[in-house]
Amino acid sequence: MAKRVLIRALKRHRHYTYDEAADALGVTVQTVRSWRAQGLPVMTEKRPHLMLGEDLAAFHKRRNKPPNKPAKDRFRCFRCRDNTRPLDGIVFYTSLTPKRGQLEAVCGVCGNPCFRFASEAGLADLSTIFEIVRNGPSQA
Ligand SMILES: [Zn+2]
Repeated sequence: MAKRVLIRALKRHRHYTYDEAADALGVTVQTVRSWRAQGLPVMTEKRPHLMLGEDLAAFHKRRNKPPNKPAKDRFRCFRCRDNTRPLDGIVFYTSLTPKRGQLEAVCGVCGNPCFRFASEAGLADLSTIFEIVRNGPSQA
């Protein structure tokens, strides 16, 4: 995963050269140049090329965000290509190890099965959101 960058160091309305942006964010100039290829807007009409602090901040806000991780009450549904709530709020927990297991739910939108991992310790918290049905070896 890409290194997190401290965007608080940026002044939104200031223009930055590659060198200045690298200094402000504690990365190399090459790294800043690579961001341009990844969609960072850069003013290239004049030299030196400049970027706006606001654009740098927005770029990193997007990048710092974990890749669309579902909220606690949602599952990633690959058919919907979205994070959806389980049908009827019911999820099934299967122990894989004494400490970890897999949660299975039925997508509340399309009915497709959805999975995610969970820790045994986290189940108490999740049981405030879902009705958890244990169907793993722990029940046997
Ligand atoms: Zn779905």
